[in-house]
Amino acid sequence: MDKRTRYSETLKRFAPEVYVPYLVDTILSSKVIFKIVPGRKSKLGDFRANIRGELPVITVNGDLNPYSFLVTTLHEIAHLRTFNKYGHRVSPHGEEWKNAFRELLIPVLDSKNLPHDLEKALWKSFTNTKASSCSDLNLSRALKKYDKPTIHQTHTLEEIPMHSHFSLNGKVFKKGNLRRSRYLCTDLAGKQFLVHALATIEIIDNHDK
Ligand SMILES: [Zn+2]
Repeated sequence: MDKRTRYSETLKRFAPEVYVPYLVDTILSSKVIFKIVPGRKSKLGDFRANIRGELPVITVNGDLNPYSFLVTTLHEIAHLRTFNKYGHRVSPHGEEWKNAFRELLIPVLDSKNLPHDLEKALWKSFTNTKASSCSDLNLSRALKKYDKPTIHQTHTLEEIPMHSHFSLNGKVFKKGNLRRSRYLCTDLAGKQFLVHALATIEIIDNHDK
């Protein structure tokens, strides 16, 4: 198995599948040792610049929800890119880091596969100039929603707005167009399924909010 396949297979278990190719490209094109580690209470991930001529190291907690894993990985890669360019001359989450983070997130946002609330929180995090620590409260809150399926009121699929994210049998889908009695829905891997209009689902993110 080549390196790329190995990375893809591993990352599929941690990140939303639709973003795995992007993550693999981003990690493999960076000169970094990337490690998925057991969950730590104190942090979601970290970046260590290795000064003795060795490769820098990024670690990301393996117990994060897929969106949190994706955002944390890009957060740490933004640290790597900032360090490569400026060394220790700039503050950890200053303008330079923010630019790097934004650059890494644009392809993710442009692909339109994120739940709407999360997309909003990420856009907002770019303009949140006060973010002086690793955590942006608004963003953390948006990410936390995906930690585990929360109990919501159930609906039938036809009741919820177009493009809403919902869960059915433990999987997350996005509602699309109606085809006769079924809606064309997309899962996190980008695969399409026809789901009956009267299927009982749990709404996760109301697109119209
Ligand atoms: Zn940070």
